[in-house]
Amino acid sequence: MLLLVADRVIAAEPRLSEADRNLGDGDHGLGMQRGVTAAREKLLALPDDGSVPVEKLFSTVGLAMMSSMGGASGAIFGTLFRDGGKALAGRESFGASELAAFLRAACDGVMARGKANPGDKTMVDALHPAAARAGEVADGPLDAALASVGAAAEDGCEASKGMVAVFGRARSLGEAAIGFPDAGALSVTVILGAMRDFVAGLPSASE
Ligand code: ADP
Ligand code: MG
Repeated sequence: MLLLVADRVIAAEPRLSEADRNLGDGDHGLGMQRGVTAAREKLLALPDDGSVPVEKLFSTVGLAMMSSMGGASGAIFGTLFRDGGKALAGRESFGASELAAFLRAACDGVMARGKANPGDKTMVDALHPAAARAGEVADGPLDAALASVGAAAEDGCEASKGMVAVFGRARSLGEAAIGFPDAGALSVTVILGAMRDFVAGLPSASE
């Protein structure tokens, strides 16, 4: 699943770069691409015999992103996966309840680290509603949870278009930022969309 996340983020580079060009300096797509490429290498170096704890898979991605990306989003997206991963300590599988725990800790971690709140036109505007939705659907099957959580993130990303930025370079744009989605929010939709599509494609998910 995490390898598909990496592939999708790499493929989304032009879209992510364009979104950041509209509001920032245009480097978000390449930064994310660098981060998930490093994460991919670290994941592929782990044994694939099922012996690696779920927690470690996610934290491996977070640490690789933190150390390879730099900038605001290296810390922010690295924290998403690292702190989210920490919440999975002791879990032996990844279901809807793990998704909820992951996203809750990821969102709390990102908000503590970056100090952004919902409405500030950052990736929190996609992550926060996704985490809230995950909490509501934590008792059901993972494929349905991810479909619902992915839609919540997309709605949040769409809503970021109407916001004025409080952080980063987009802040100086003021009202001119209205109409454009936040680049990091778009990345969150790509990440959750990849997770959703991976699980939807698993034989056990549709049986
Ligand atoms: P930089 O801002 O260093 O150029 P990127 O372009 O890679 O970094 O990432 C910008 C994205 O990072 C923004 O679109 C926003 O979603 C996210 N971001 C920036 N600062 C914060 C913050 N304090 N909290 C949450 N997300 C943030
Ligand atoms: Mg940027």
